[in-house]
Amino acid sequence: MIDLHTHTDCSDGTDSPAQLVNKALAEGFSVLAITDHDTTSGWHTAEQALRPNLSLALGAEISCLTTDGISVHMLGLLFDGTNAEMQEMLENTRDGRIPRALKMIELLNAGGIKISMADVESVKPIGATLGRPHIADALVKNGVVASRDEAFTDLLHNESPYYVAHLAPTPEDAISMIRRAGGVAVIAHAFASLRGKVLSADDFLPLKNAGLNGIEVNHRDHNNEERNALAQIARELDLVITGASDYHGTGKLNSLGENLTEQAQWERLESEANQRRVIRA
Ligand code: AMP
Ligand code: ZN
Ligand code: FE
Ligand code: FE
Repeated sequence: MIDLHTHTDCSDGTDSPAQLVNKALAEGFSVLAITDHDTTSGWHTAEQALRPNLSLALGAEISCLTTDGISVHMLGLLFDGTNAEMQEMLENTRDGRIPRALKMIELLNAGGIKISMADVESVKPIGATLGRPHIADALVKNGVVASRDEAFTDLLHNESPYYVAHLAPTPEDAISMIRRAGGVAVIAHAFASLRGKVLSADDFLPLKNAGLNGIEVNHRDHNNEERNALAQIARELDLVITGASDYHGTGKLNSLGENLTEQAQWERLESEANQRRVIRA
């Protein structure tokens, strides 16, 4: 079993990296990718928790914004974690998430909703990449909503009047940076239309030309039609097809391994990194 997209409490998941690795070991996974939002801070403890029979593909889910303002998530896997340019980009995005959260809090307050940055800080694990799920948790704590899911449905979704985007690289810039750092780039949940505005089929050729390696086809936020459309694009552009859970611990309903990547697709993806960077115990 190969799951190439998961989160820990280094961003908006709820398992620690060690807990997630232990879960993957216990459930008999062969490959687990850890892809926290805009950070590599979980890599070290994940690696320390590793035991035989599991391979770790360390990475990050990089928040991107197209010039048209469409939010895109780019999975970078198997890149050199010490790459300065990459770490600078990730840090800039994390920094940009702070004024963005403050702005969203201001808008929520103006709408009569009680929440402060202190509330958000109190529910966010120290050092974790700040995201809307932490604002959601603060809203739950304050009794405004009952769950993260309700917070997103009612107040925090991409089309909400309280939504604010944060600074982020373009998908092309993120892809070329991942590749310059030796890794591989897989576009996450590209047709998840329920989340908001998404790319169109024509947008994939420029991404392929920037160095895109794969498309995440099998993801719970894609219906069958969306999966078929993405698989066709992947075949036309000769890109790897992946499937993954986007596991967030108890932060979302997604269960580890609910969508998987085929061995042959994984082998091809791995071979496209500039060196062997999969970690084995
Ligand atoms: P942000 O990166 O701050 O824009 O927040 C986006 C994150 O919110 C994504 O990682 C999603 O996993 C998470 N998210 C989106 N919708 C929901 C939902 N309904 N319930 C829980 N988390 C969600
Ligand atoms: Zn997330
Ligand atoms: Fe995502
Ligand atoms: Fe994700």
